[in-house]
Amino acid sequence: MNLIFLGPPGSGKGTLASYLVKKTGIPQISTGDMLRAHQAHGTKLGLEAKAYMDKGELVPDSVIIGMVNERLKEEDCKNGYILDGFPRTLAQAHALEEIADIDMVVFMAVDNEIIVKRLSGRRVCPDCSGTFHVSTLDNPELCPNCGGKLIQRVDDCETTIRKRLKVYDEQTAPLIAYYREKGLLRGIDASGSVEDNRRDFENLIKA
Ligand code: AMP
Repeated sequence: MNLIFLGPPGSGKGTLASYLVKKTGIPQISTGDMLRAHQAHGTKLGLEAKAYMDKGELVPDSVIIGMVNERLKEEDCKNGYILDGFPRTLAQAHALEEIADIDMVVFMAVDNEIIVKRLSGRRVCPDCSGTFHVSTLDNPELCPNCGGKLIQRVDDCETTIRKRLKVYDEQTAPLIAYYREKGLLRGIDASGSVEDNRRDFENLIKA
């Protein structure tokens, strides 16, 4: 299946997608992770994207569309994939239509105040890509999976989180109606736990 996970930042798209990668073997295509990998390698694209990402703004469509276009041509995408964080604008959705047949769009709904709490307490491990909430950690600096040093993403400070939510409402939320009209949209209430999201997603697939 070719799936899109659609939802505001912090709705749990990445966490659910990485669970499915382990379960099904189909790849997770996270444009945020791809951009961060470019930054880590100091590429021209990474440097260009950083200014937008740190401010909570969207990276220009032309950059993102080119990057996803190349990624979807790779061998591991032949049997399906999960798009996590793409498309984020109508222009990206139109471009995707030219290169892919999407089977389902899973919309993950969460209230803004829950998101602010989730993201401002989020810590990530640059070594194993684990994601945690500070409230669940014995030591807020140490990755419980691999012992790596946890960091807080620059864009996970409250002002930037609120900016990202505004950008989401203005530029990404219109995709909900777009995919509903195409008959592709399904939804889950993603305001609960990681386990709730998994269960609701699995029920959705069974249905
Ligand atoms: P994420 O990891 O999905 O929260 O993305 C982090 C940041 O990367 C976003 O705030 C944007 O600046 C940028 N980004 C990720 N995906 C896209 C996209 N599809 N279009 C534009 N910018 C993106």
